Amino acid sequence: MYRNLKILIIDVGHGGSDPGAVGNGIVEKVANLNTALGLKAAAEALGIKVFIIRSSDVTQSLEYRVKFANDIARQYPGAQILFVSLHHNAGGGDRAETIHSIYRGEGQRAAMMIADELHKHLGQAKKVYEKVGSDNKDYYYVIRNTSMDAVIVEVAFLDNVNDVQICDSIEEQHRNGQVIACAIGKFFGLIEGCDNDVEAPKPTPPPVVELPKPPTLEEVAVFYRVAVGRSYYDWVKDLEDYAGDKKNPCTLFMAYPSIGELRFRVSPINEVRYYPEVQNYKSAYNNYDEAGVPNVPFDKLQIRFNKPGYKVRYRVMCNGSWLGWVENENSYAEGPNGYAGLGDGTPITAVEVKIVRK
Ligand SMILES: [Zn+2]
Repeated sequence: MYRNLKILIIDVGHGGSDPGAVGNGIVEKVANLNTALGLKAAAEALGIKVFIIRSSDVTQSLEYRVKFANDIARQYPGAQILFVSLHHNAGGGDRAETIHSIYRGEGQRAAMMIADELHKHLGQAKKVYEKVGSDNKDYYYVIRNTSMDAVIVEVAFLDNVNDVQICDSIEEQHRNGQVIACAIGKFFGLIEGCDNDVEAPKPTPPPVVELPKPPTLEEVAVFYRVAVGRSYYDWVKDLEDYAGDKKNPCTLFMAYPSIGELRFRVSPINEVRYYPEVQNYKSAYNNYDEAGVPNVPFDKLQIRFNKPGYKVRYRVMCNGSWLGWVENENSYAEGPNGYAGLGDGTPITAVEVKIVRK
């Protein structure tokens, strides 16, 4: 049990292909992240264990965000956990808003304390409210579906020329995060307050710049397995082992990468055509798709990988011998060497796969 542990889960609104609100040259997803980085550093300095749902410019679904939070709650039974979803507003209003559950409770207390602190330090008037959905439950998805006390914070209206005065620089966005951390420290009973100015230590998170990222050439692992008949052998990672038993025909193939997306397909023996292509990426839910049909051996395998800077290398065994390596980027190679296997009805009995840098 984690009775004395205080956990803050920071949900950084929007990101990636979803910019959120835009106003006066400020993009919400960026302001949210900078505010979150200020909040995270200041909350950690208060002894709060912080989880941040995104720390870069990536797209995440609301379902992912809620699952992330609820998984943490399961991992830390007994801990006091607060979920704070950071946003900036647009659409013609003004000043800060905090939103809590219609069931009020601790979430309402946290929402009021955050609004108080924003009011005190930034002059942002407090507007604390709840919103009922048509089913008489909470209207907002992250409040309705998280298993802990949850608050949505709208720091300011980006399309309001007065509001943006307090959030139009990275320093101010960090500071706003510190102000929220102060309220959360009080909410958890860790501090009395931050009365002079914000006393939270100065975090030095890296500035967030809206530039396309250069390709990062991290190691990419690939996990794969095959079935004989309709039963799968264990997963294999990279070239630590091979998939298959080198004797019996492989009938199903399944693979996924540690990052990016892998696509592949197989062709049944005695047929020219391929079965439909399958695509897998590393999924939080382990729902991997398979290529092939139970009990039908395949004699050709093709794999491709979607990440620039990488290629996938793979080879198969037929008649007790490994065939040559085949390499593909994000398309299948042309010609007779564009697949692994003999393609003449000889079943494949083992497979090896590795993702390498180009
Ligand atoms: Zn938003």
